[in-house]
Amino acid sequence: MKPIRKSNKLDRVCYDIRGPVLEQARKMEEEGHHIIKLNIGNLAAFGFDSPEEIQLDMIRNLPSAAGYSDAKGIFSARKAVMHYTQQKHIQGVTLDDIYIGNGVSELIVMAMNALLNAGDEVLVPTPDYPLWTAAVSLSSGTPRHYLCDEGNDWLPDLKDLRAKITPRTRALVVINPNNPTGALYPENVLLELVDIARQHNLIIYADEVYDKVLYDGATHTAIASLSTDVLTVTFNGLSKNYRSCGYRAGWMVVSGDLRDARDYIEGLDMLASMRLCSNVPGQHAIQTALGGYQSIDDLVAPGGRMCRQRDLAYELITAIPGVTCVKPKAALYMFPRLDPKVYPIRDDQKFIAEMLQKERVLLVQGSGFNWPHADHFRLVFLPHEDDLRDAIARIARFLEGYRQR
Ligand code: PLP
Repeated sequence: MKPIRKSNKLDRVCYDIRGPVLEQARKMEEEGHHIIKLNIGNLAAFGFDSPEEIQLDMIRNLPSAAGYSDAKGIFSARKAVMHYTQQKHIQGVTLDDIYIGNGVSELIVMAMNALLNAGDEVLVPTPDYPLWTAAVSLSSGTPRHYLCDEGNDWLPDLKDLRAKITPRTRALVVINPNNPTGALYPENVLLELVDIARQHNLIIYADEVYDKVLYDGATHTAIASLSTDVLTVTFNGLSKNYRSCGYRAGWMVVSGDLRDARDYIEGLDMLASMRLCSNVPGQHAIQTALGGYQSIDDLVAPGGRMCRQRDLAYELITAIPGVTCVKPKAALYMFPRLDPKVYPIRDDQKFIAEMLQKERVLLVQGSGFNWPHADHFRLVFLPHEDDLRDAIARIARFLEGYRQR
């Protein structure tokens, strides 16, 4: 039989968080090895249970959740999201501007598919959460990566960003708080990004899925709250802030001056209708989550479990010779740098695969986040402190072996 090949649409699509090294880890688990997984921000897997009130309300609504809902989502969920946009000072959002999805992931792909023609360009940060690059490519667009500057708390390098704008640039992706760097953007940087978008007629796509996972008393500004004219699509959901990745409940909100965006919005409506609706039990979790006190606040406060784990991971990882790291201000990740003079790595995927083989610790290589050099990896600091100690001791031992080669 002739080999069945995947479509060429996938030629440029890459999503290494669940890539070949994960496959290697799965095989090792099948052989009976215990793997410490620091590769994915799946909170429930590390004992960060989803709030009980959310679970109970989902169960209660289950009998009435068997039918399709409105394509854009049930009323109570959209109303709760509308109130959330008001709390975040995003102006003028109506129920019609809100789309509920099977997590933010589905909506990111939908938003790109509705916008892009072949050759259209989208500014995406490097490093990035790689779904953004993948979604642009899958939608036949071209991702243009603008640098985030490690020497400046991983904030966007605006000079580099401006230099990447061409007549084909349609949109600017802003991931704040950032995965994988843990950066949190101050208002002055956000205002500059808004100005650039305004000047070049770009849509802003704001991925704010970690907007409550903030340390050291930090606060988050929604970029959509900083203008009433620039078309902005803001993404958020329950996965991280409410420890509910598996319920697949996310949303996107279109704001700004919508008058010139009617055709694009028609495209979004069409794609939302084509998938009929997002999973209805998950939608029922949204009102309960947003209306209550179940978010992650206590865990990220000083002394809270997540804050302690961030501090410990940072302390241990930066104690390894040749390893430096910008301390995350938000989210669940750190993105340490391996000094190339100490660790002359040529292929960072191989490097991570070798660490998995030797030490049974699973990380994701920097290039998996479209970072152009083989000198970073991402670590998820979700495991309990003892497990983190064990995991980072293994990383340190592997790196010691690497230095002595
Ligand atoms: N955006 C960012 C920055 C993420 O880190 C993730 C998941 O890790 C997502 C979006 C996907 O979120 P969801 O579970 O809502 O699909």
